[in-house]
Amino acid sequence: MGTLEGQSALVTGGGRGIGEAIARRLAREGARVTVTGRTREELDAVASAVGGHCLVADLADRDSVLALARDLGAVDVLVNNAGVAESAPLADTTDALWDRALAVNVTACFVLCRALVPGMVARGRGRVVNVASNAGLTGYAYTSAYCASKHALVGLTRALALETARSGVTINAVCPGWVNTRMTDEAVARIARTTGRDEASARRALEAMSPQRRLLEPEEVAEAVAYLCHPDARGVHGQALCLDGGQVLA
Ligand code: NAP
Repeated sequence: MGTLEGQSALVTGGGRGIGEAIARRLAREGARVTVTGRTREELDAVASAVGGHCLVADLADRDSVLALARDLGAVDVLVNNAGVAESAPLADTTDALWDRALAVNVTACFVLCRALVPGMVARGRGRVVNVASNAGLTGYAYTSAYCASKHALVGLTRALALETARSGVTINAVCPGWVNTRMTDEAVARIARTTGRDEASARRALEAMSPQRRLLEPEEVAEAVAYLCHPDARGVHGQALCLDGGQVLA
């Protein structure tokens, strides 16, 4: 029997990439998984693969997040995974870029926590895992909005962990380095465009940022999320679990 049998899980951004891997991994543990995002075809495909449900929502839009929270029943496992990662030098970081990063990467997580964590606390059990980034632990050039949003998400995680510490609910973050997903493909294309390198060399430059000289696979992040959702991980609380091959140490 899986460790999440009989529990419901919401995975934001569950239609592809890291979120899809998390949805599949939690379903293997027996969770009834709901995935959310904007792209219905991707969500339908994952929902039907895991025997779960999907709800379309734009997490950049506060009303859409509030409607999503209202449409959900009780949720035992909340994985705030959806994210955007546009980069630009400071002078080219527009208000719109900044607002999108903060809205999706942290405000939506806050709104979903505010809607769903009280129910977990009342039931005396629950898991929240926020997919932050190692950019939530250190700074990177040309990514001020992304770094600020991910630092905020780590801060939200730590504050809520203290607030819920005696409830049976745990709240943690995972902080990956570069992961082999569309988000990284887009970063590779952007680096190639702005530096004149070819894409293969831009990808090698990202791999070289890790002391392990490689990108992570989405399944590695999903495994860490599954660990944090395991009943035996109940003492792991308020942590920002870094999965980046040692990059933040280098
Ligand atoms: P991805 O393949 O681009 O997936 C991003 C997901 O977020 C998609 O499912 C997308 O769905 C959803 N999303 C984006 N904007 C949304 C919005 N406005 N409303 C609802 N959903 C939205 O990226 P990924 O690599 O899997 O990233 C997942 C998470 O990991 C993000 O929080 C990212 O910051 C974090 N992370 C990624 C890396 C990396 O190297 N890839 C490293 C560290 C952390 P729709 O487009 O359908 O809306």
